[in-house]
Amino acid sequence: MKITLENLNKIYIARSKGYSEQIVAVRDFSFVFPEGKMVCLLGPSGCGKSTLLSLINGLETPDSGKIYFGDEDVTEWPPEKRAVGMVFQNYALYSHMSVRQNIRMPLENPFRGETPEKREQDRKVEEIADLIQIRELLDRRPDELSGGQQQRVSIARALVRRPEILLLDEPLSNLDKMLRMQILEEIRKIQEDLHVTTVFVTHDQEEAMGIADLIVVMRDGMIQQAGSPEEVYRFPDNIFTARFLGYPEINLVSGSVRSEKLYCGSDLLFDSMALEDQDVIIGIRPEDLELREDGVILCRYNRSEIQGKDRILVCEYHGAVLKSILPTGFEEISEGEVRFSCKKEKLMLFSPETGNRIVL
Ligand code: ADP
Repeated sequence: MKITLENLNKIYIARSKGYSEQIVAVRDFSFVFPEGKMVCLLGPSGCGKSTLLSLINGLETPDSGKIYFGDEDVTEWPPEKRAVGMVFQNYALYSHMSVRQNIRMPLENPFRGETPEKREQDRKVEEIADLIQIRELLDRRPDELSGGQQQRVSIARALVRRPEILLLDEPLSNLDKMLRMQILEEIRKIQEDLHVTTVFVTHDQEEAMGIADLIVVMRDGMIQQAGSPEEVYRFPDNIFTARFLGYPEINLVSGSVRSEKLYCGSDLLFDSMALEDQDVIIGIRPEDLELREDGVILCRYNRSEIQGKDRILVCEYHGAVLKSILPTGFEEISEGEVRFSCKKEKLMLFSPETGNRIVL
């Protein structure tokens, strides 16, 4: 089921100590979530991600704008009429019920047709439990489960009615890193198997990069950029998106274009930049800085950091910090100066005034 959001606006009135304040949580938001795809809403806390999910599942109604499921205008539909499954960060399971009863509960109010017979309910519960691989947990109670198992149960509960849309609100935040990656892969596989249109909210770019067909980068209730993980990473429209994706963060250093040459300080980085004279911010991803003896980017080496399997070199260049990933096979550098180069096609330039990317 395709979801179309058209010029959505949502304003909350926050009241405190006798005065009220308008908070624009979602601002003129338009986007099409393609049928059967996984779309990640990615952005910092408070940028309106959860509000968007509440607008899609009907717990909130927009102040203006339209929501369509397929071709149907559902903007005014109550939540129970929308075939939407929802998974939250805090599992939200009933502790006095068994896992089986927790998963079965939504079947009392099916999206389509009559409430199934008890035997049919059991069949559906077991079918989804097999898919999520929690069959052996069905007769336990939620407090007898680990966090990862509880989250699997809440995913099963969200899917048992076979929703056409699945909404996941930071579903992995309470889990440790190893388990997050494992459940992330499971969610992806189930989503593809069931071909359910899925909106996955996260503030973690690594999760989004790992799972999404499309990433929507948000800020202040608005879309900064939408595209495939590769697109938003390699071709960010602005500094906000460039910094939000990738870790270590993209390196940013002030530069200038003079007579079609790109400089940082007095260092000539590139000839033949077909641009007007202007100040720029130069962006280079850490993996695009190549250690080379003939490199023109001469830095002072500060220290190195271990990150996962990588060693990160932390250097200083014209007052900015530059980070690069030490390629395997290189001896560790202990002190002094290092030289880097960067391929021209990997370089990004941004406007210092607007933060927007300057297309080369
Ligand atoms: P996110 O999910 O990206 O963290 P939210 O959608 O929860 O962001 O919130 C967006 C903005 O709306 C925030 O500034 C938040 O404080 C505000 N907000 C969310 N819910 C309410 C509410 N019920 N009343 C008032 N303000 C709210």
